[in-house]
Amino acid sequence: MSEFRENLVSGRWVIVLTSGTRDAASGLEFVGKGRGTREDEGADYDPKCPYCGGNEHMTLPEVSLIRGQDGSDSGEWIVRVVPNNQGVLRPTGEPVVRRHHIHQFITGVGTHEIVVESPHHSVQPYDQSLDRFAAIIGAYRDRVAALETDRRFEYVSVIRNHGIERGLGTSHPCSEIVALPFVPVDVQAELKQSEDYYEFSSSCVVCDLIQSELSAETRVLLRSDAFVAIAPYAARVPYEIWILPTRHASSFVAITDAEAREMAFCLGRVLLALAEDLGDPPYSYYIHTAPARAGDMSYYHWHLELIPRVTAVTGIEYGTGIPVNPMSPEQSAAFLSRKLTVH
Ligand SMILES: [Zn+2]
Ligand SMILES: [Zn+2]
Ligand SMILES: [Zn+2]
Repeated sequence: MSEFRENLVSGRWVIVLTSGTRDAASGLEFVGKGRGTREDEGADYDPKCPYCGGNEHMTLPEVSLIRGQDGSDSGEWIVRVVPNNQGVLRPTGEPVVRRHHIHQFITGVGTHEIVVESPHHSVQPYDQSLDRFAAIIGAYRDRVAALETDRRFEYVSVIRNHGIERGLGTSHPCSEIVALPFVPVDVQAELKQSEDYYEFSSSCVVCDLIQSELSAETRVLLRSDAFVAIAPYAARVPYEIWILPTRHASSFVAITDAEAREMAFCLGRVLLALAEDLGDPPYSYYIHTAPARAGDMSYYHWHLELIPRVTAVTGIEYGTGIPVNPMSPEQSAAFLSRKLTVH
């Protein structure tokens, strides 16, 4: 069982496992294991991995399955989305707000789905054909769209962690999709900031940001018709990267198949540069999109943020929430853009 508990002082929410999910005596796995520490690293198939092709019986039934279009795939699936059977949220019941003295909590109703990106155990997105990576992004879109129709959920998040202890028990290439009964504080803050900017300037902050960055050029990493990859002006860590769609849309669900292909191209190039030129650091990326059923919003603009895990959190960040970035985004961009072609 789990609950969303609100930190009354900050307004932030925490998922707390209350009973029956994990044995406290079994110990906790600490973060910080990098890539290459696992025995299964490098193998194409791991008999113990529930996400490998041939082991489909080890997961719950899939909620989505995409097979290859071309004959060469010989019936092999290319993307499979399954509920996380170790998930901290449960997909049944209604999210009920309850009180406990001055505190409030919401029953842990939500979904946690795993997007299995390949039947092969050790491939990375950039190892795959563009069609296959585009199919992964198409699967993100289709699952977000489906989950957003469920009126219990206010926000659907797409996340990918690489080389970080993910709680999934395997290094198989996966992304995660989480549906929540509320809008997280970080997204609320972006919505508010974007709305304030729009009221002041009558334009979308990200549309303006794209124009500004393209004219300045110093933080642009990669550009295609439909996407721009930049090192953000106020980057939190070295090599933080944002991938911004050039067409204004508040919801990621609006992405077309052609745009998904371009996004796969940009994201694949960026991930390959991290792997080849930066020694394959752990990273997280996530998509920020409008709340479920919000309709098209003129002031909000969906985007992807990628955070390489290359620096430790400093005392200043713990104490104030203000990250200390030892490398300017202009330096990051100068290094990365040499590896990526700026058109
Ligand atoms: Zn596997
Ligand atoms: Zn915009
Ligand atoms: Zn964002």
